[in-house]
Amino acid sequence: MRQQRSYPTEAIILKHLNLGEADRVVTLFTPRKGKYNVIAKGTRRPVSRKAGHLELLSYSQIQLALGRNLDIVIQAVEREHFAHLRTELWHMTCGIYFAELVDRFIEDTTAHPDVYSLLLESLRFLDMSAAELKRQRSGGMLVGQGHNRTQLLLRYFEISLLSAIGYEPVLRTCAHCDAEIQPVENGFTPSLGGALCPNCSHLWARPISMNALKVLRLLQRTAWARVPYFNLDAHLHSELEAVMYSLLRFHLERDLKAWSFLEMLR
Ligand SMILES: [Zn+2]
Repeated sequence: MRQQRSYPTEAIILKHLNLGEADRVVTLFTPRKGKYNVIAKGTRRPVSRKAGHLELLSYSQIQLALGRNLDIVIQAVEREHFAHLRTELWHMTCGIYFAELVDRFIEDTTAHPDVYSLLLESLRFLDMSAAELKRQRSGGMLVGQGHNRTQLLLRYFEISLLSAIGYEPVLRTCAHCDAEIQPVENGFTPSLGGALCPNCSHLWARPISMNALKVLRLLQRTAWARVPYFNLDAHLHSELEAVMYSLLRFHLERDLKAWSFLEMLR
């Protein structure tokens, strides 16, 4: 049988790296082969027809030729451009953050169809939310509710990603002694993987409020489309963010680039 020389795939573009004068190494995230790098030749030339379809966060249909080291993009056609997301700085930064998380946490060439759907659905939601924000702004309406929702989406994405790759935080029982978590002030420690009862939390843990635990549990067990529209105050948002960042930092052993930028915009 003749060896197949080229193949199609759909992909979300996670990252770019310039290569030589006119080429790029593009990091694709695909449903079947997971994350991997390919070469896009000539995409930095102004006349390139492929370039627009291989932009960061684009969701595209791509034809690839098998290469000796990296496969080579023959053709790319965008399926969804997320145009609204691209014109709102906050939403675009959220999207870039998701791409950074996937890039950091997912191993090369390992299929993660659940994470793929998570990323695609999250980008769609961000795009919709950016469009809604523009409508509100042009109608002179008070803006803010959408922001609240996207901040919650950040936490939903983080917790869903961690769960999908086997780092699901323990939030219902004590991560140390297994006792059921009671509605009192409990602790949280990333190194033990979750919440700690008051007896165990004196040693290592940062405090975590019952409200924060409830929100995280809900996000852990609910599909995004079914997460109710509730309005969390700034204090609770900050607590949730700090808890999730501590967990991500523990697994990555470093900070993420997008964090400081998200903080500035928030
Ligand atoms: Zn305990």
